Amino acid sequence: MAKNSSTSGRREMCSFCGRTKKQYEVFVEGPGGVFICPECVDLCSTIIKQEQRRGKSKAATKDVPKPREIKEFLDQYVIGQDDAKKKISVAVHNHYKRLLHTDSNDNDVEIEKSNILLIGPTGSGKTLLARTLARMLNVPFAICDATTVTEAGYVGEDVENFLLRLLQNADYDIEAAQRGIVYVDEIDKIGKTTQNVSITRDVSGEGVQQALLKMLEGTMANVPPQGGRKHPEQAYIQIDTSQIMFICGGTFVGLDNIVKKRLGKRLIGFDSEQGGKREDKRIDYSTIIKQVTPEDVIEFGMIPEFVGRLPIITALTALDEHALVQILTEPKNALVRQYQKLFEMEDAKLEFTPEALKLLAHKAIARDTGARALRGIMEDLMVELMYRLPEEPKPGKYVVTSDIVEGKVDLFGDGQSLKESA
Ligand code: ADP
Repeated sequence: MAKNSSTSGRREMCSFCGRTKKQYEVFVEGPGGVFICPECVDLCSTIIKQEQRRGKSKAATKDVPKPREIKEFLDQYVIGQDDAKKKISVAVHNHYKRLLHTDSNDNDVEIEKSNILLIGPTGSGKTLLARTLARMLNVPFAICDATTVTEAGYVGEDVENFLLRLLQNADYDIEAAQRGIVYVDEIDKIGKTTQNVSITRDVSGEGVQQALLKMLEGTMANVPPQGGRKHPEQAYIQIDTSQIMFICGGTFVGLDNIVKKRLGKRLIGFDSEQGGKREDKRIDYSTIIKQVTPEDVIEFGMIPEFVGRLPIITALTALDEHALVQILTEPKNALVRQYQKLFEMEDAKLEFTPEALKLLAHKAIARDTGARALRGIMEDLMVELMYRLPEEPKPGKYVVTSDIVEGKVDLFGDGQSLKESA
C-alpha cells in the first residue's frame, strides 16, 4: 500500500466518496488503483468502533445481571438506601429481560418499561444511584434538570435536549443511546402546585409533564442536533426512546405531609390504643416517606398519566451521622480514601480519629444538604495541608483530630500541629 501515490495518467479519486486527491495532502492507495481519502478513513474507524461496542453491549444484554449482583455493585458506592437499591436492582433486571424479550419477537405478553421515581432529600444519593447503575451496565448516561425545560412558546429548552445529551455522551452512537439511562433531576419542580412559578415557563408545569410523558412511554423523538429550541427548517436526529430507562428524582418537599394526612387516622388510632393519651410522638420523615403511594405523588401535583409511567416509586431517607461517617470512609471512592491516596503519593500517611469523622459528619448535617456538604467541609479542612505537604519532610504521618476539625488547633501555629511523628 502506498501513501501519496503518484500514479500518473489516472484520476486519483477516493473510491468511497469520490472526492479527488487535490483536496487532501494525504491519499491512501490500495492495490488495483483504489484510493481512500482521510475523511473516509476516519468514518470507517468510527463505524468499526461503533460495531465493536455494539457487539459488546449486545453480549452484555444477553447476560442479564441478577438483582443481587446489581445491588452488590451499588453497595460498593452507595451507603444505606437499601430499599431503593433493592427496588432499582429488580427494575433493572426486568428492564434487561424486557430488552431480550423485545429482541426475541415473542410478543404474546408485553412487558412494560419500568421507569423509576426516586424521592428523597438533597444529597441522599439519588443521582449517585443512577450514575452508579449506568457505570455497572456500561451504558450511556445523562443527567438532566427538569427545570430547564419549558413548554413550547416559553423561554427554555425542549425535552428532546435530554436525549441530545445522552447522544453526546454516547459519542453520537444512536443505537447505544437508545439503550441508555437518563436521570431527570428536580422532577418535583414541574408539579402543578409548585411554588417555583416563573414567568418564563408555563405556569402549571403540566405542559412539560405531557412532553416528558411521551418520552417516558416510548416514542420516536426528533432531536435537534444543535440543541436549544426545535424549529421547522432544522434536520433532526431520530431517537427511539422505548428502550431508554428514565430515572426521575426529586426532593418533593411537603410530600411527607400529604402522606401523613392520609395516614393520619391510623396514626391517631394507634396512639390511643397505647394508653389512651395522645403522645406527641415524633414520627420522622423517613418512616413517613417510605409509605408514599402513587396517589400521594398525584396529589402533590404530578399528572396521573405521568405517575403511571413511573411504576417504581421509591423513597430515599435522610442520611444520619453514622451513614455520613460511612460515606466518608467506606465507598470505593470515599473522600478519606482519596486523600489517603494523595498523601501516599507524597510518602505520607493520613489518619482521621473516629471523633474527627463524627464531627465532620455533624458539620455536614448542620448544612442540611446531605452528603453533598461533606466534600466542601473536607476540602476546607485539607486545603492548607495539601498546600504544604510536598514541602514537608518525608516520610510523614498525619492524624486529623476533632480539635483540628473544630479549628481549635492552629495548623500553622508551630507548623507541626498536625504532625505526629516524622
Ligand atoms: P441527590 O440525592 O441530591 O441527587 P447526590 O446523589 O448528587 O444527591 O449526592 C451528592 C454527593 O454526596 C454524591 O456525589 C456522593 O459523593 C455523596 N452521597 C450522597 N448520598 C450518598 C450515599 N448514600 N452513599 C454514598 N455517597 C453519597
